Amino acid sequence: MELVKENIKKLKEYKTNKVSYRIKLDANEGKNLLFPDIQKEGISFLEGFNINLYPDNDSFLLRSEIGKYLNINPNNIIPGNGSSEMIELVMKTFIDKGDIILSFVPTFSMYSIFSQIYSGRFIGIKSNEDFSTNMDTLIKKAKEVNPKVIFLCNPNNPTGYLTNKDEIKRLLDNTDSIIVVDEAYMEFAEGSMVDEVLKYKNLIVLRTLSKALGLASIRLGYMVSNQDIIDIINKVKSPYNLNAISQYIGIKALKNREKILAYIEEVKKERSYLYDNLTKFPIKPYESNGNFIFFKSNVTGLAKKLEKEGILIRSFSGDLEGYYRVTVGSRWENEQFIKSLKEIFKNEES
Ligand SMILES: *Cc1c(COP(=O)(O)O)cnc(C)c1O
Repeated sequence: MELVKENIKKLKEYKTNKVSYRIKLDANEGKNLLFPDIQKEGISFLEGFNINLYPDNDSFLLRSEIGKYLNINPNNIIPGNGSSEMIELVMKTFIDKGDIILSFVPTFSMYSIFSQIYSGRFIGIKSNEDFSTNMDTLIKKAKEVNPKVIFLCNPNNPTGYLTNKDEIKRLLDNTDSIIVVDEAYMEFAEGSMVDEVLKYKNLIVLRTLSKALGLASIRLGYMVSNQDIIDIINKVKSPYNLNAISQYIGIKALKNREKILAYIEEVKKERSYLYDNLTKFPIKPYESNGNFIFFKSNVTGLAKKLEKEGILIRSFSGDLEGYYRVTVGSRWENEQFIKSLKEIFKNEES
């Protein structure tokens, strides 16, 4: 198709695993902790809900629940269709053709994909050998190439590495670029930048309900920033960007603070269980601050072999050939995963 933009011609479609499975540990989705039986939840919708009318354009009630959840002013929040929409909104707002976007790599693939769609130039700064990162390298590169936007995924997907707050503040003190801190997994770690947004003119924090709240299906994420940036992004976002059903479920969900905190503790416990067990294999797991563990294995086609057992994990290619990411599951799921690994390694030996 000749008419398509040059950069779109080179783009690959975001493809997801469509195979059947018993245990799904490939996409870092949380468990269904809040609505175990959605039928019984009385999702009969809000008083006065009219399916024929457009939803609240600025998700007012949802923003006030998010405000309570994070202890921030609802005016500093924009919700939308997953943090994916928020990443795209940042690109739409700040990236002109040829502008530079900087990030450590490996990281979440959508930063470079949206850079390409919006004709920006994505530059990845390689992590250290152990997938830790060096802020001095990033600051130096930023001074050299003058990026419009810097993405920092914290904790980082897929490596699980956590950049501490002081380092992020040092970055903010040393650049005027827009700094986007993607905190999709911050509930499983410590060191959120949410309470810093008013202190900086160029800080945007992204959060989601897809991971720690176990609501990936309703596509609900949000941005937190200062009033100037919020006002600008509000000019760019599509009208009624978040449907009424997602707004409603999000409002109900965020009222369950106790359940959410209990789930986070469970995931952290299971994360250590899984990590300890992985060290018993000829596998190199990396310390993780998310709800997943990144590891290296020399078994060829490990993910395919697990898939035969009905277990899905994420595999990588290119520079990350031989690396995998497994979502922290329930105790039973983790045991099944470990059991299958045992079988696979036993067969490798014989
Ligand atoms: C899962 C994930 C997201 C979440 O995306 P949603 O669109 O909110 O589901 C965002 N950033 C990172 C790094 C992720 O891993």
